[in-house]
Amino acid sequence: MGKIEIFGPEDDAARIIRVIGEAFTEEELMIMCRRDGVKVFVKGGKNDAPGKYIYKQEGVPIPTVKVAPDSRDDTVVHEFVHHLRAADEGRKGITRTPFPMNEEREILSGGIIEKYTYDALNVEESATVAETTARRRSVGGRSGYFSQIEGISSHHAYIHDRLLLTGSKEEETSKDLRGKEAVDAVSELFDRTKISEARIFPEETNDRTVKESVKLLEKEGLIKRQKE
Ligand SMILES: [Zn+2]
Repeated sequence: MGKIEIFGPEDDAARIIRVIGEAFTEEELMIMCRRDGVKVFVKGGKNDAPGKYIYKQEGVPIPTVKVAPDSRDDTVVHEFVHHLRAADEGRKGITRTPFPMNEEREILSGGIIEKYTYDALNVEESATVAETTARRRSVGGRSGYFSQIEGISSHHAYIHDRLLLTGSKEEETSKDLRGKEAVDAVSELFDRTKISEARIFPEETNDRTVKESVKLLEKEGLIKRQKE
């Protein structure tokens, strides 16, 4: 059994504990700790991304989250959603990472994924954004990926997805989802989200939208249809 180990100033650690305690159920926090647990580093230089998730892999024995001290709360949630998408063995379809893993839950390179790494990243990022949007109302900014959807502003795309996924009428009063509710919302509604129309890595994926990457990865068996 691992643990969630946080390295950084005490008040940052306290904020992270509060945010993940609000955004995830107790069971989900347990799943995060299973096997290897997760290391969290609160630090960031000027040019660093606000958050980053590093999968367990050769040379990375413990999955690792990095967040900047001034990152938004939904950025913290986003990185832990990546972790659950890799660590939760019960997840299927679009709600788990498309990267293949071995029995040790290390992600694998080489083989079929070599050809489709960016399609997998296309899907991984947008599905992570969708789940984060269901779990936590974004205050003080939106995930940058919402700006990569054609024909809609990042603000409107976010509002659309937040209302759709949470089943709410107004953003201000929209309810945060957790646990099965959040995962099921993504599983059932992802196809109707605006973020599924994004092009997160347009150059590397030949301008494919996330939805087109999903289809391709399904064909290659990297995403398994949930209802079979
Ligand atoms: Zn991400």
